[in-house]
Amino acid sequence: ASMEPEVLAGLPGVVQVIGNDRKAETAAAVIQALGLDAADRFGKTPITTEKRVGPPKASPVGHRTRPFLKIQDGCDSFCTYCIVPYARGRSRSIPPEDVLAALSAYEASGFREVVLTGIHIGRYGLDLSPRLDLHALLSMILDRRLSLRIRLSSIEPTEMTEAIVELMAQSGGSLCPHVHIPLQSADEGILRAMHRPYGPERFADVVQMVRNRIPDAAIGSDVLVGFPGETAEAFANTRSLIERLPLTYLHVFPFSPRPGTAAFHLPNRVEADIIKSRCNVLRTIGRRKKTAFAASLIGTQTTVLIESKADPQTGWSRGLSPHYQQVAIEDRSDLPEHRLVDVRLVAADGERLVGRPIRERTAAG
Ligand code: SF4
Repeated sequence: ASMEPEVLAGLPGVVQVIGNDRKAETAAAVIQALGLDAADRFGKTPITTEKRVGPPKASPVGHRTRPFLKIQDGCDSFCTYCIVPYARGRSRSIPPEDVLAALSAYEASGFREVVLTGIHIGRYGLDLSPRLDLHALLSMILDRRLSLRIRLSSIEPTEMTEAIVELMAQSGGSLCPHVHIPLQSADEGILRAMHRPYGPERFADVVQMVRNRIPDAAIGSDVLVGFPGETAEAFANTRSLIERLPLTYLHVFPFSPRPGTAAFHLPNRVEADIIKSRCNVLRTIGRRKKTAFAASLIGTQTTVLIESKADPQTGWSRGLSPHYQQVAIEDRSDLPEHRLVDVRLVAADGERLVGRPIRERTAAG
């Protein structure tokens, strides 16, 4: 449509041609072409033209001890397998003052960790006026010296900047040393077909950059297995990059065609049995990496957010480390939920670590 709009416009039945640069406006254009007023008919603005995002929820969303604070919604990227941009509209951000106010409220309520979430948080602030970015928001948050730590949700490889990693490295634990960077595939051709804006080596460089600056960072990734056209060779490319990179855990998803996405119409679908066995291969690698990472942390000191009170039978509490590790803590004094407790990691039981309390903390950092 972008290349030869006149040709398409001349075809029978075509009333409007929408170029690639305006594809997010497709629904609004259809409504307009049909002479409908979406706001009247549906009682709200079409999501594809929505420019605002609602304020943060007053009550915590997400995990009981780790509320999720949505700082951004929507996405402009249109990966070919993903329905999100059609369902959630364009990228839009919560103003920084609202984010800061929500964090202060969570702090006052006794929370000691908040997860910043969004559909595409690497695009944070680019729609705001004045424009800012995720690094600027994180700097503002850290300047507040809140008594809670911040964890980032998934960030696209092209948006995981050295500046963000530097901020993390220098935050003294206020910004958890944990990044989640979706890979999806490490095959050039598949990444192109997915409309992912990077190649495998760029992804590898980003992971290595994080590992070099924060040697003990948790680095997770998502992989989408069985995208149409994923040959044995393409899968081998993904497998071998994952094997060689210092990732610490994997989330592996089988491809399933979503009506309404470009990938739904792609030929060369991969058989379900093959997808399943490829998923198993990657999950096995992911478990191995996770176990190895847990073992590498034994002997270190860390700060665990207590997520469950001590089991009355065993006396063990459960918590989460900044490195996204589940930690079991033996402590008969019944550590309260929500608290940050300094522990020494003394052993690992598979993927779970065992910690011994050093002292309770009152603030992050
Ligand atoms: S996969 Fe992520 S970046 Fe790609 S379109 Fe979906 S939400 Fe956007």
